[in-house]
Amino acid sequence: MDEPRTYPEPSPSAWHAPKAKPPVCCDPCRPRDVRKDRCGVNLILLGPPGVGKGTQSKLISKRLAIPQISTGDLLREAVRQKTKLGLEAKLYMERGELVRDGIVVGLIERRIQDPDCTKGFVLDGFPRNVEQADALATMLRGAGRRIDTAVCIEAAEDLLVRRIAGRRVCSSCGSEFHVEFRPSAKGKLCERCGAELVQRKDDREDVVKERLRVYRESTQPLARYYEERGLLRRVKGEGTIEEIERLIARALEEAAQPPPGRS
Ligand code: AMP
Repeated sequence: MDEPRTYPEPSPSAWHAPKAKPPVCCDPCRPRDVRKDRCGVNLILLGPPGVGKGTQSKLISKRLAIPQISTGDLLREAVRQKTKLGLEAKLYMERGELVRDGIVVGLIERRIQDPDCTKGFVLDGFPRNVEQADALATMLRGAGRRIDTAVCIEAAEDLLVRRIAGRRVCSSCGSEFHVEFRPSAKGKLCERCGAELVQRKDDREDVVKERLRVYRESTQPLARYYEERGLLRRVKGEGTIEEIERLIARALEEAAQPPPGRS
């Protein structure tokens, strides 16, 4: 059995650690100052629906003290508030399709200008295709920043379908449960507040399969996109939350090391 948390904890200071010679990062063509008060740690979590990006990006956010930004959450909030954008997005989301690039790129562009993002951010669910990745690179370049690392969490599709289709959310407090892996002590009611547990429309099995198809077609090519740029780290996403957290922590530690010859 693994001892809990015996792995090296990449504290925010690991990213802030002063280097004798600053490595290149904001722009590959000129030396970048990696002091995080200037550039921040800008991370992306890639991976299919149900692989645990939401859970893991929240853990990274806490550990590195940077905000987690989920386009899925931003869109669901717009849907809840019935904004014009939300009403348009809802149609696509319920079918498991991607929302228009213009909408999500606009959301991200505004969000990363918020003051809490100066220390960096971890993106969950964005970018979802090459066009969005290009738009992200352009907006960051304009601000003298860039993506530091993209972590791709991978898992077999049958496990993903089981994980998503069994998910239940409290209709009142939003707590998440799973019929198989994390059942509520109160059955179909939330064990925290007693409200009804519901299945998100886009968590239904038919929609999940469509979301996975869209992932394979549009989002999977992003792994290659970031690999070609030397920014990708792959992590196996089939263990426990703690095991996956540990693998990601290690991958980020490795990615934060200066390239050979630059220390
Ligand atoms: P998620 O919670 O990340 O699985 O997102 C839920 C749904 O929101 C997706 O199935 C899409 O319909 C939509 N969505 C979230 N992020 C994006 C994105 N970057 N581009 C397009 N659609 C998105």
